[in-house]
Amino acid sequence: MDSMTFVLFGSTGDLAKRKIFPAIYNLLLDQKIPRAFSVIGVGRQELTDVEFQSFVEQSLRTFSRRKPEDDSNLEEFLRIFRYCHLDVTKNEGYQSLLEMVQCREKELGIPENRMFYLSVAPKFFDVIALKIKESGLGSTKGWKRLIIEKPFGHDLKSAQDLNEKVSKAFEEDEIYRIDHYLGKPMVQNLEALEFANPVFQALWNNQYIANVQITASETVGVEERAGYYDHAGAIRDMVQNHMLQMLMMTAMQLPKRLTAKDIRHEKRKVMESLRPLRKDDVVKHVVRGQYGPGEIQNKAVIGYREEPGVTRSSMTDTFVAARLWIDDPFWKGVPFYIRTGKRMREKSTHIVIEFKNTVKDLYIAQNEKPVPNLLVIQINPNEGVSLQLNSKNPLKSGQIEPVTVDFSPDTKDVPEAYELLLFDALRGDSTFFVHWNEVESSWKWVQPILEAFEENLLPLHLYPAGSEGPEASRKLLEEDGFQWWLDK
Ligand code: NAD
Repeated sequence: MDSMTFVLFGSTGDLAKRKIFPAIYNLLLDQKIPRAFSVIGVGRQELTDVEFQSFVEQSLRTFSRRKPEDDSNLEEFLRIFRYCHLDVTKNEGYQSLLEMVQCREKELGIPENRMFYLSVAPKFFDVIALKIKESGLGSTKGWKRLIIEKPFGHDLKSAQDLNEKVSKAFEEDEIYRIDHYLGKPMVQNLEALEFANPVFQALWNNQYIANVQITASETVGVEERAGYYDHAGAIRDMVQNHMLQMLMMTAMQLPKRLTAKDIRHEKRKVMESLRPLRKDDVVKHVVRGQYGPGEIQNKAVIGYREEPGVTRSSMTDTFVAARLWIDDPFWKGVPFYIRTGKRMREKSTHIVIEFKNTVKDLYIAQNEKPVPNLLVIQINPNEGVSLQLNSKNPLKSGQIEPVTVDFSPDTKDVPEAYELLLFDALRGDSTFFVHWNEVESSWKWVQPILEAFEENLLPLHLYPAGSEGPEASRKLLEEDGFQWWLDK
């Protein structure tokens, strides 16, 4: 791996302390960082290097999956870090940042490879990218890369504007847009599951699959994020990015080679075939909901409109379910259902592939009721894969019953999403980062839904906290003769 400088904007923030420092530390323990590696934290607070290093240490002690037991490891790790105080909106400061970067490059013999990580509010993304260019930080003899967090835009237009500005300073292949769902081990495993197993690859099409269901449910409410969430809703917070990324990963066809270019090409083809929704059709295919008061794990919780920071008349969606169609020869006629919500009964991200029940009639004649085969991919918080098949039960006169074959991998000590993604970015592998054309096509697909929500063209269903979401979500599948699996 190339030696490099890692400049972290927003280094005193929540994401840095909960995810980024622990990820770098765990990579060091696994010897997955370069021999010469310099990290420069940038922030608005005035801190000395020693104070910053102690902030980093505290973050490891609190948030790292492996705690720093061995002090020599820890000291070696903290020595990598320096701090630069600057206001990202002002030109002053970028010059001292450049000098600090160059000084460390000289000390450590780093050939001007520079990674810039923007762990700051999205309003700063374009400002920082442009100032990196203007200040000379971006003029390197080595390579430069930019890692950006979500959200990338608030709608189609703002995403396009942002991209135009950022691409004045960085080429597309230098930009690593993080969608941390793409860092989840089971999402990364989808590709192997589909393509490394001929039994599944042969079935991965409309001849055998009846429908696909992608669920991301949370038990938490809006927490302290009302300021952001009340303007975003589940549609921007989850659907435009994470849900559509999981859809692309599930529906893509076998790439020519397992390279970033070919995998992203296949994902792009999925988005190009995704049937656009007209604003007037949104009501037929999309359900929006908002949680009311209820109970989560026997504890009473307040409704969304009572949450601090939320307006009492808020029409923000905390739940979205939708039916999508991919108009290509592989998926024609197979509905893909997505749903995501806050304050649901269970925290669970999973994908269910329901196979067509072609033998149903054969067994019904014998008074048997074989249920459909299901492939269930558990993504979070549990990771695993199970296949539900039909089998005769010899203890019940050979009656047909569903049996589950569980092939969950051992997930003890599995790296976290940020570790996997950061490692990929360090070695320049963009497979599990989001290309601009995926961002743009996702916003294009979502845009009519945003407009229909804003114009209230569809009802906002209230659902009790601790439930499976609105009844309308169940009906959406019932219309097609299906049901959500795994709801108890
Ligand atoms: P935060 O508010 O905790 O931290 C923001 C950081 O930016 C701080 O270090 C602050 O000092 C710095 N900052 C703010 N204004 C500045 C200025 N003018 N000059 C210099 N520095 C300035 O935010 P966060 O939760 O760490 O989120 C950072 C980014 O990551 C956001 O884009 C957010 O949407 C995204 N994100 C966060 C999480 C998370 O778990 N926290 C998850 C996914 C995505």
